Amino acid sequence: MRTFYDIHMHAFNLSHPSLSVFLQRSDLLDSLFKSPPDTKSQAATLWCFLRKIMGYLLIVIGILILVPIAIVVLPIFLLFKKKILKRFAQFILNISVVKDSIGKAMRTLTFFEIPLEYQFIVLDYYLKSKIEYFEDEKHIVMGNTAYNKIVLCPLVIDFGRKNIPDGVFYRYTPKSPIANQVGDLLYAIRTYYRFNVNVMDDKMHLSTEIFDWENRKAEKLFEIYPFMGLDTKNYDDWNGLEILLDKYFYEFEASDSPKIRRERLFNKMGKLDSNMYIKTEGHYHNVFAGIKLYPQLGFDPYPDAPEEFEKVKNLYLYCIKKRIPITTHCSDGGYKVAENNHLTSPLGKWKKVLEQKEFEELTLNFAHFGSQKGKQTEWRNAIIELTKKYPNVYTDISCNDMTDEYYNNLGKLFNSANPQLHKKVLFGSDFSINLLVTEAYSYNHYLETFSDAELPYKTELCELNPERFLFGGIN
Ligand SMILES: [Zn+2]
Repeated sequence: MRTFYDIHMHAFNLSHPSLSVFLQRSDLLDSLFKSPPDTKSQAATLWCFLRKIMGYLLIVIGILILVPIAIVVLPIFLLFKKKILKRFAQFILNISVVKDSIGKAMRTLTFFEIPLEYQFIVLDYYLKSKIEYFEDEKHIVMGNTAYNKIVLCPLVIDFGRKNIPDGVFYRYTPKSPIANQVGDLLYAIRTYYRFNVNVMDDKMHLSTEIFDWENRKAEKLFEIYPFMGLDTKNYDDWNGLEILLDKYFYEFEASDSPKIRRERLFNKMGKLDSNMYIKTEGHYHNVFAGIKLYPQLGFDPYPDAPEEFEKVKNLYLYCIKKRIPITTHCSDGGYKVAENNHLTSPLGKWKKVLEQKEFEELTLNFAHFGSQKGKQTEWRNAIIELTKKYPNVYTDISCNDMTDEYYNNLGKLFNSANPQLHKKVLFGSDFSINLLVTEAYSYNHYLETFSDAELPYKTELCELNPERFLFGGIN
């Protein structure tokens, strides 16, 4: 059996990402106004660029001309306003950058509007449209390798209740930071293993509940191992935090073999519903495979305040003691509520964390390979150095821009100056967020692009490395 891993994806619907934070994403406008897809040839790139310039010029000229004209033609406008407004709207909608950004927003919303409960079933259904029959088994073909399983790691993000703008009336509402998000995710996993779908008369129907679903779990394409989102600031002290960690990770041991770790997670998968308040001992053990941290939302990897440092230090020691993998957001974009690059950068606080003897064993994935705006590579280079020094430091390539140029440059990094790197890079998609910020129009599309890319060490990236990052094992 071969398993393909997507170490970094998300399962959200519109109620989870704290839309007020979502709308404040610093890179939202940048990404919406990026060039349209066809960047294959130089001529196409130039044409894109010209169209973009023309688009912006038209907007500026439009404003300059329209203001004086509006004054002159206002009486006529009032007579025929409906017709004129419609024409103007059509003109704006036809500008290519506007068209492209509306397209991205629409495909993201279309997916976000699917109830979370059904999202894995929908992904599974559409992926299977690309399954190739290989001898007598079904496989997903990636490059030259056929995989019969896909492990998905949906990362939960602790959005908390930050940055509520001034003047908002409903400021202090009871809201448990992530319980609803986690409950909905567990319910979605449960639904995935209990039902199939079929399409009839252009409608997707759920099957009746699968008989003996627990024993037939292995027949499904996905194994789903989520990461728990955490911000130490949302917990009063280490005691409270430890109770929470024990609730989920109590049975984890550093000495677990990869087989045992995976089996425990597999056995629990699909058994829980959305009730997050059950008191039975062990009820929530082994539902999460790791922890997700998000410095751009305010998590501080090395806080100065002693009480905060106490929590963070104990969190790291707990993760080392039980070999719990951590993924930390590492790009200068993403959900940002303030200027938190100093917390996110692999050069500053994180470097200091790893330099402490007691933390050097942390199993840590710097997400997005430290992607920065423009062609900056400072963070990426810092991550490469950290992967040389520390045995359990990894980086993922989620939310990359999917171009030949990206994969070419990545391939060139696997050279004699970085002999360890091909064992440290993990495949990730950042689906469904990537629908908004990359050219991906579907999960299939993102996987197909990786499958077709000219890139050495693909098996390491999407199979061997993530397996080791998740479940442990020898480097
Ligand atoms: Zn992400």
